[in-house]
Amino acid sequence: ATLLDEVKKRLRDVPDFPKPGILFKDVTPVLADPHLFHRVVDAMAAPFRGQRIDRVVAVESRGFLFGAPIALTLHAGFSPARKPGKLPWRTRTERYALEYGEDALQLHEDAVARGDRVLIVDDLLATGGTATATQRLVTALGAEVVGYSFLISLDFLPGRERLGRDKVCSLLSY
Ligand code: IMP
Repeated sequence: ATLLDEVKKRLRDVPDFPKPGILFKDVTPVLADPHLFHRVVDAMAAPFRGQRIDRVVAVESRGFLFGAPIALTLHAGFSPARKPGKLPWRTRTERYALEYGEDALQLHEDAVARGDRVLIVDDLLATGGTATATQRLVTALGAEVVGYSFLISLDFLPGRERLGRDKVCSLLSY
């Protein structure tokens, strides 16, 4: 079976989580399979191999699960984008609208350096609100967003358009 078929088979659709009417894509069965997890990380990093990537910025919390191993394979540093109040040092904040509600994200002021080439990673792209807030944080600190890598993108929502089609990579689209 192809990698895509394997991943599709393992993603668990959970209806009405975290709210009624939401069909949640549960990635934990993918992480639990060592061979599949490894192949997924390699495939999410592949489009950015051979480019200079200084930093991977990943989004709390499922983004960390993919972002950290992708950073290792690309020989890049890793910086977490977190929900307000979680980062211990000086931060920048961006608010954003979520598929279900509103929230904000923070980066440490030294999470990226001026001129850094940054890859943004998350598990799933929906409306693009989360990734757009992350992009604004990175750009406000003077770094450049080279691209985005997601495991899944929901292409009936405007996320891919909002971020710029040519910059967005996803293993699976629905
Ligand atoms: P967006 O901001 O609307 O693009 O939503 C993307 C964010 O919501 C990501 O951080 C995802 O982890 C999370 N998310 C939304 N829907 C799902 C889902 O079905 N499965 C897993 N994560 C989801």
